[in-house]
Formats: sequence, C-alpha cells, structure tokens
Amino acid sequence: MNILIINAGSSSLKYQLMDPQTGVVSAKGLCERIGIDGRLNHKAGDGDKIVRDIPMPTHSEAIAATLEILQDAEVGVIKSVDEIDAVGHRVLHGGMEFFDSCIINDDVIKAIKKCIPLGPLHNPANLMGIEACQAVMPTTPQVAVFDTAFHMTMPPKAYRYAIPTEYYENDSIRRYGFHGTSHKYVAKRTAELVGKKEFKMVNCHLGNGSSMSAVKDGKCQDTTMGLTPLAGVPMGTRSGDIDAAVVQFLCNKYGYSVDECLNILNKKSGMLAISGVSSDFRDLEDGAKNGNEDCALARDKFCYEVAKFVGAYAAALNGIDVLTFTAGVGENDCNVRASVCEYLGFMGVKIDPELNGKRGKEMKISTPDSKVEVWVVPTNEELMIAQDTAELVTAAK
Ligand code: AMP
Repeated sequence: MNILIINAGSSSLKYQLMDPQTGVVSAKGLCERIGIDGRLNHKAGDGDKIVRDIPMPTHSEAIAATLEILQDAEVGVIKSVDEIDAVGHRVLHGGMEFFDSCIINDDVIKAIKKCIPLGPLHNPANLMGIEACQAVMPTTPQVAVFDTAFHMTMPPKAYRYAIPTEYYENDSIRRYGFHGTSHKYVAKRTAELVGKKEFKMVNCHLGNGSSMSAVKDGKCQDTTMGLTPLAGVPMGTRSGDIDAAVVQFLCNKYGYSVDECLNILNKKSGMLAISGVSSDFRDLEDGAKNGNEDCALARDKFCYEVAKFVGAYAAALNGIDVLTFTAGVGENDCNVRASVCEYLGFMGVKIDPELNGKRGKEMKISTPDSKVEVWVVPTNEELMIAQDTAELVTAAK
C-alpha cells in the first residue's frame, strides 16, 4: 500500500510516500516558498536530493508538482497517481469536533473550518493542502489526522480551565494539547516494547516545541500544552506556562498590543530568552561547557520544569510505570535525560549512564532496580499518520 502523507503549512508543504505496513518511505520532499516563487526539494529512497525551481502561486501547484515528481521517469517512484491508495493530512486543530482521525468529506471540511479560530495559522493552510489534493486526485480517499485528537480522552478536571463556564460553552476555551500524533505513536510503541497494554506512563516529547502527556492504558489523561502550543514546559522560543497577568503588565508598560506580546511569548522567549544565545539545545550545551552561566541556567530550567510535570503526572496517575523520552532533544540529548532523571531520584527513577550515553536509538535506559522503566522511543508521526490513514481506508472498503 502507498500512503501519501501531506503536512501543509502557510508557505510550505511536506510530503512522504510511505508503506504503512513496513514504514518504508519510498520518497519524500518539501515544496517551499509557495505564494512567493516556488521550490521543490525531493529525495527518492537513498537517492540524491533534487532541487527544482517550479512556480507555485498556490498549494494546488505544489501538489501538482509533488505528484509530477513522484511519477518522474528518473527520480519518481510510481508510474501513475492511481498507485497512491490514500492521502493522510496532518491537521493542527480538531477542536471539540474530532476525537480521532477520519475520512474527509464535506462535513469534515466544514468542521475543520469551524476550528479555524482555535488554529488560525495552521488550519487554513492544512485546508489548502486538502482542497488542492481533492482537486487533482478526486477519487483518492483523503484522511485527516489531528494533532489534538489523542488528547481528547482527558477528563474534564484536566481539560477545563477554571475560568467562567460561558467561555467554555460558547467559545470552546479549554485545554486541547498538541503533538498528539507523536504522543499516540510513542504510547502505542511503548506498549509493544514493554509487552503490556495496561500501564501508566509519562511521555516527554522534547524538541524545539515540547509537550508532555500522562497516559493510562494507552489513553491520554493530561497534557502540558493548552488551548494553544504556548503552554506547558518552556521551549526553544516559547515561554511555556506563565502568569497571564504578565501580558497585562507588558502591554500596559510598553504599549504592546496583545498580539505583539504573544509574539514575544511565542518567538522570543524560552531557551532563547534565558540563554540570550540560542533556542537550539546543542548551542546551549556548548555554551554551558564554555562557562556561559545563562546557557547552563536555560538547560537547568528546562530539565527542572520537565521533572516537575513528571512529578505532577505521577500524582495525577497515582504512580507511573514507564517514563519515555522522544523528539529532537528527548532522543538525542543524553544530558537533558540524565538531569531530568536525577530530579526524579526521589521516586526511584534510576538510569544507566552507559546506556543513556547513546543517541537517537530505541532503547531502555533504566537500571534493573529502577522503580520506573525509562525508555527512549524515537517518534514517527508520519508512520502514525500512514497507519491511521490505511486503517480507515481499509475499513471503509
Ligand atoms: P525537534 O523539534 O524535535 O526537531 O527538535 C529540535 C531540537 O533537538 C533542537 O533544539 C536541537 O538542538 C535538538 N537536537 C537535535 N539533535 C541533537 C543532538 N544530537 N544532541 C542534542 N540536541 C539535539
């Protein structure tokens, strides 16, 4: 089976052609500068990366260019579009409309549009990707996979904000959570690795954007991001949780609009702000090694906040059996993992420094006497999208 995975942004569109059973990616690429001029970056299997300048005034031309290069005699991997069994689209915000992935029809499009106020930057771009695919491949089934869906099993005590009920009832203001496709993949994969379905875990998706989730028996019980991906632990450039009155203070003192203030919290905060150097954890590590105290503080603040949420979620779940690390930092930064686990020594978390010294590999890093199993589980959101898409399309046949 061939599933085309599409992740459409406002001026870019990423694609992968994947076999959902094996996870093998036969080709992948990126259309960038959509609406400006247009450039296609394509790679088939182990082949070289190809870059072509192709005019892309809209997402339709980007999809057309993608399909064309996938069928290209030299660098393509299929002979006809008919070889694509279905398309899986990443969609940021499913609001209270979507609890799972679903086959796209007119009602689904309407519901995704209804969620635009909750995901004003991403949902319109995701819709452009869907509509462009529908136009050029009208008979191929399309599936929407939502970043929020995995978290929809949270109980009200986790997802309700303690603000007047009218904002929840009239405006759907609540915690949604993001990176759901990654959390879902890691929860599913961890169940395979530990050989159990019923267990309690905390997953730490630590990357440029970071979020954590408390999962019981494969179902999300709580997560750190909120109405938007700004909440939770501090991130590369995002503040994470702060007192909402900081916004009022900054707007009053500096005459910022709320949008300007939110731009500071989203793009100029987090690790970048505390270190004053970079949002990239590798730069922070280099800085800290060279004696830059602000870089060291940024990394320690991050690990401290991650550990605090693990503690909170251990309380929420009445104990945890497994702790998992994933995404760029979680998979690769051994020192972040070591520091988080050191904070958690009080609850019997113990890791083996030698095992933890490896990077980017699926592995158990806890010692045999650790009270909590600690795993590194590299995420694979694309595989999750391909599997959800294949499952839905096969069931509908
Ligand atoms: P992501 O958003 O999941 O792509 O993660 C990006 C973050 O992962 C960046 O802050 C990188 O510094 C970090 N990262 C990627 N590779 C490594 C590595 N080998 N060692 C430490 N951090 C890494």
